[in-house]
Amino acid sequence: MASWDNSITGPQPECSTVATCTGYRGARHEAHASNLRDRAVAVDGRRVTLASGDVLEPDYLVLATGSAYPFPAKTEEPDIASARKRHRAAHEALLAADRALIVGAGPSGLELAGEIKAFFPDKHVTIADISDDILIGPYDQALRDELRRQLDELGVELRLGTAITELPSVPPATLAPISIATADGGELVADIWFRAFGVRAHSEYLDGGPLADRRDERGYVRVDEHLRVVGETHTFALGDLADADRDMAGIANAQAAVVAANVRALITGTGELTSYETFPPMIAIPLGPEGGAGFLGDGVVDAATIADLKGRHMGTDRLEALFDSAPPLAA
Ligand SMILES: Cc1cc2nc3c(=O)[nH]c(=O)nc-3n(C[C@H](O)[C@H](O)[C@H](O)COP(=O)(O)OP(=O)(O)OC[C@H]3O[C@@H](n4cnc5c(N)ncnc54)[C@H](O)[C@@H]3O)c2cc1C
Repeated sequence: MASWDNSITGPQPECSTVATCTGYRGARHEAHASNLRDRAVAVDGRRVTLASGDVLEPDYLVLATGSAYPFPAKTEEPDIASARKRHRAAHEALLAADRALIVGAGPSGLELAGEIKAFFPDKHVTIADISDDILIGPYDQALRDELRRQLDELGVELRLGTAITELPSVPPATLAPISIATADGGELVADIWFRAFGVRAHSEYLDGGPLADRRDERGYVRVDEHLRVVGETHTFALGDLADADRDMAGIANAQAAVVAANVRALITGTGELTSYETFPPMIAIPLGPEGGAGFLGDGVVDAATIADLKGRHMGTDRLEALFDSAPPLAA
């Protein structure tokens, strides 16, 4: 059985992530920190079984396994080479397509449409959604109106209020003639399609275990105000996996700080537990590197602000700094 202690040699570093912290460097406590690259396949209480067969039994467990989005918003490839290969194949397919269909008018569908139009203005891009408007969620109507204005300017066709009887039989992000019927008797045609709906919490490893019923009907793990899994004292959940708030990186970061504070408070026995406070509805939606709009708490922000904040670099500059390296060049 793997243990944190077994995997540490030499001077112990400060815990770098709460997910790997089981101790606290203090007068009465030793730090036990390590990083393992493996997949949790079962969680039974605080007993975590990994795909390798190793078992971990930490004093405090933080579930932070996030969510799956349909490709290309996220990929489940096991390594960078295969992820790049898959993205490259999708890119080649898109290059050869004249008409792209995106099913789903949420943030990732809108961003994808804007990106395609910004780089390939001659391609016909359609977004279809069963809802009567784009960007369903707790957002100001003025934001939807501004995004729709820009999508119109880019020439993106919106087919809203459109129920699709059956999704295309060809896989998304591949080049193939697509023709699908809509419930109102219409038709959607394209040379490539992308699925931009169906985010799914990564909580399948709870199936059959004692925490299985702590999930809501969509698979999100239910947590209390201290971000502990409901009914648990030493097990936390945060980020996209937890039902505490919306699925956003900024929210996951804020929740990580709350969980770290609470684990520390429990270990040291000092102080009250910190409660998590939900975020106001903020969002940044680029439509290409220079377009888009957002809501950052005080009215709709314009394309130039969104381009600076996200669209021009997609946050890769911050990640480069975090990992102390530039991404390797394309193979
Ligand atoms: C196209 C797109 C644009 C977005 N733009 C924004 C934005 O502008 N601003 C913003 O705030 N948010 C944005 N988001 C949302 C943001 O990416 C997520 O909210 C954020 O990544 C959630 O972080 P997380 O750590 O909870 O989960 P994730 O980022 O999903 O990380 C979970 C990690 O757990 C690992 N994992 C999963 N299952 C297991 C397992 N069984 N065992 C071990 N490891 C496992 C995964 O491999 C992954 O590394 C965007 C998302 C998409 C798809």
